[in-house]
Amino acid sequence: MIIPHEKFEGIYWAYLEDESKSLATKNFAPGVKVYDERLINYMNTEYRLWNPYRSKLAGAILNGLKEMPIKPSKKVLYLGSATGTTVSHVSDIVGEKGIVYAVDIAPRVMREFLTKCVQYRKNIIPILADARKPKSYYNLVDEVDVIYADIAQPQQATVVAENSEFYLKKGGKILFIIKAMSIDVTKKADITFQMEINELKNRGFNIIQTLNLEPYDIDHALVLASY
Ligand code: SAM
Repeated sequence: MIIPHEKFEGIYWAYLEDESKSLATKNFAPGVKVYDERLINYMNTEYRLWNPYRSKLAGAILNGLKEMPIKPSKKVLYLGSATGTTVSHVSDIVGEKGIVYAVDIAPRVMREFLTKCVQYRKNIIPILADARKPKSYYNLVDEVDVIYADIAQPQQATVVAENSEFYLKKGGKILFIIKAMSIDVTKKADITFQMEINELKNRGFNIIQTLNLEPYDIDHALVLASY
């Protein structure tokens, strides 16, 4: 059985045969899988189970994310699309009237993203670019409601802040994944998380929530903030 998530529009609970439950989204590209997710048909609609061990956004929801700024019809700038595991669920959620601008720097990854995901989803605009140079995709991206960033790079907070200056609407939200080990392998993860959060505060963000992503991802945090 599938029922809507009690807090978040466009996100569902799937109740499974073994009495467990899983997050799920409505498949925007029926019949097509993006990773090894399970597809479920319920009342003539297809849903995709959303694996928190494969997608940090699902892990954050299960760990108690207070608010989900990614909703039907929203525009999202997604930095670090990789091959599309999480982007595909974001595309499911924003649906027909929304847009996902999906940036990745790696040509090989982008090729796989195009063949596995983008070609079936007309609400994704793929952008092969370096997120550290937001001006380079100025002619492709409009003002957005949300920036989601998962780029596993040093200076992640700076990259998010610079993209926000260009593209995030006033009052817009960010969902920012901090990978502690990409910033400083010698520091404790909590210290690195705090440094990145302080940088966001200095750049004009109000922090709404910080979530540790264990047990789904070790030494990763998700920060929800408004601009
Ligand atoms: N968000 C993805 C998901 O949940 O399915 C996983 C993202 S993976 C951890 C990080 C991605 O960021 C990689 O695909 C990498 O190529 C990309 N990346 C790293 N540095 C980048 C940069 N400067 N600009 C754009 N993409 C970058």
